[in-house]
Amino acid sequence: MEQVFAPWRIEWVERSESPTEREGCVFCAFAASSDDRQNRVVARSEHGFVLLNNYPYNPGHAMVIPHRHTGEYTALSEEELLGHAVLKQRTLRAIEAAFDPDGVNMGYNLGAGAGGSIEHLHAHAVPRWEGDTNFMAVIGDTQVIVEALEDSYDRLHEAFSAQGNVQPREDDTDAEQAVRIDP
Ligand SMILES: [Zn+2]
Repeated sequence: MEQVFAPWRIEWVERSESPTEREGCVFCAFAASSDDRQNRVVARSEHGFVLLNNYPYNPGHAMVIPHRHTGEYTALSEEELLGHAVLKQRTLRAIEAAFDPDGVNMGYNLGAGAGGSIEHLHAHAVPRWEGDTNFMAVIGDTQVIVEALEDSYDRLHEAFSAQGNVQPREDDTDAEQAVRIDP
């Protein structure tokens, strides 16, 4: 297997001892993994990463996730908040470039009482089109959804790659790794 110089991965190996990660948390596992395409991690920055959401399926539905394992927005430091906000803005730009939606729903479900299902903070970004409310009823086929997810991944990957301040690719594989966004 070809060795690729990837300083952010080294950073993450070092961070894997950190008490801010939690065993059994899928988002912490994705943050530490390098199987980005398989995990549908499409972009990474110093403070977090962008993950495609597969259920419930909505085309282009992405989540912006800080690295630190906390379910509380109020627990983020100012530096983490800024890094998170910048990544949200980049994600919005990528969604607009990739899908040209009529609008985007963006927000949080904080705590079980608000519908939060994973105790690791994540911002949803859901592109919307006029008249798309019945989309789920139309597409229920699993294979169709898998293909649509692959397509969404490629589109978003390309859109993030086209933004400024991204690290150049160092391998020839076809978008297997997330786009690395510089601070
Ligand atoms: Zn976590």
